Amino acid sequence: MTIPVRDFSLRTPIDGRHRRMLIDGEWRDSVSGRAFETRNPATGAVIGTVPQADSRDIDLAVAAARRAFEGPWSRFKPYERQLLLLKIADVIERHWEELALSDTTDMGMPVTRTLANKNRVLGMLRFYAGMATSIHGHTIGNSLPGEIVSYTRKEPVGVVGAIIPWNAPTAASIWKIGPALATGCTIVLKPSEEAPLTPLLIADLMQEAGVPPGVVNVVTGTGAEAGAPLAAHMDVDKLVFTGSTATGQAILRASAANMKRVSLELGGKSPVIVLADADIERAVPVAAMSVFANSGQICIAGSRLFVERPIYEEFVERVAAFAAKLRIGDGADPEIEIGPLISPRQLERVSGFIADGAREGARLVTGGERITEGTLAAGNFMTPGVFAGVTDGMRIAREEIFGPIISALPFDTLDEAVRRGNDTPYGLGAGVFTKDIGKAHQLANRLRAGSVWVNTYHAIDPAVPFGGYKMSGYGREGGAEHLDEYLNTKGVWIRTD
Ligand code: NAD
Repeated sequence: MTIPVRDFSLRTPIDGRHRRMLIDGEWRDSVSGRAFETRNPATGAVIGTVPQADSRDIDLAVAAARRAFEGPWSRFKPYERQLLLLKIADVIERHWEELALSDTTDMGMPVTRTLANKNRVLGMLRFYAGMATSIHGHTIGNSLPGEIVSYTRKEPVGVVGAIIPWNAPTAASIWKIGPALATGCTIVLKPSEEAPLTPLLIADLMQEAGVPPGVVNVVTGTGAEAGAPLAAHMDVDKLVFTGSTATGQAILRASAANMKRVSLELGGKSPVIVLADADIERAVPVAAMSVFANSGQICIAGSRLFVERPIYEEFVERVAAFAAKLRIGDGADPEIEIGPLISPRQLERVSGFIADGAREGARLVTGGERITEGTLAAGNFMTPGVFAGVTDGMRIAREEIFGPIISALPFDTLDEAVRRGNDTPYGLGAGVFTKDIGKAHQLANRLRAGSVWVNTYHAIDPAVPFGGYKMSGYGREGGAEHLDEYLNTKGVWIRTD
């Protein structure tokens, strides 16, 4: 695959320059004047500085979002919002390679992954554009006395605060901005301090698409200084959060200040269950990449690999062999399949899991090693690892690792696979590999997860709701349900006599 070489002189995230944040249609520095550096995780090089916002900047952004919500934006007709979303999709499509490279330098994701996801992300925007003109209430007649007419209205909740993680900056930003604009809300987006450049590039593209001032604001800063005041803000009507479960809990507590509506897309420890009758050829790469894609830094990583005992040894060996052949390096190279971890801290964290796995008696079949020599030593690289002989109580089988590590566990019966698969505080995703349609349905019904993929994994479509059970959060992204998260329903009663 060849990546077109383009002139990124205006928007390149690679030039190390200072960027400002977007509030009320203007590019601004933080009120305090402070800024922080952001680095390319593949090289360790500083790729830019961004404003370090605090509660004063959040106040400005929320006020701008409120003015826009109550002002010109409220007069946009649904079809005008639809046209704007289609325009945004066109602009983003034109700049897709820039965004893909930006994701790569910002957080290490292989550029081929973002390029391959182009239609998914654009599909989200175009799906929401389509939905913008289908938001309507109902008339309620028959159960009421003759002199009363009653109907419902669907109204935008108002100002949305969105806090996103670093692991997929483009997709996460669009998942938040698309539904907010489709429903007539305005938004203050707080990117992760680990990967703030792509959301700022998206802010720039919003300007290019003609999004009115204050409708989309992007404020960069840390969780404590910028995220917490946004979550607690008295004039934010809804908070949508994607990130870790621990932060989700903090956000939920902060949101109690004004009882804003909250939706949470949190962490996971998703089971992948491979039955003995599965098409092994097909299952091996999918099960492996369910974790290794994006170096395991994916919320739905199928990190607990349950394999039916008769094929356990062979399957684990084949996943390990697959892992050992993956090409690791700077994701800007289109040949690369595995990029770096986001930060030295994350590398340290994942290494801690590997040490604990070994200490608790699991056997590292392959990988799980830091790369400390050669050109990759400056980045946060780790080889994809597979642990065998894992038992349910081990830390590597219980906690979200968010790194390229699979824990493989044998099982004997379907009931056991269901029980052990569900034995986690999380409930985000689950994978099943089998040729038996009955077993596939049984598992799809019985696994307590927001998404179950059978003989595939990672499939995401804007028309299909995505979200968690249990401590993986609540609320859905995608599907018709999604827009309800951004709408209030009002009942109207009119006496006619
Ligand atoms: P994180 O929870 O550390 O940070 C996420 C965001 O929250 C960042 O923008 C951060 O600045 C902000 N934040 C941190 N503390 C805050 C606070 N007290 N108040 C308000 N905001 C605060 O998560 P991360 O390390 O950036 O991302 C990894 C996590 O995200 C993993 O657990 C992963 O599973 C999860 N995730 C979930 C989904 C999903 O759809 N379910 C998708 C991607 C990632």
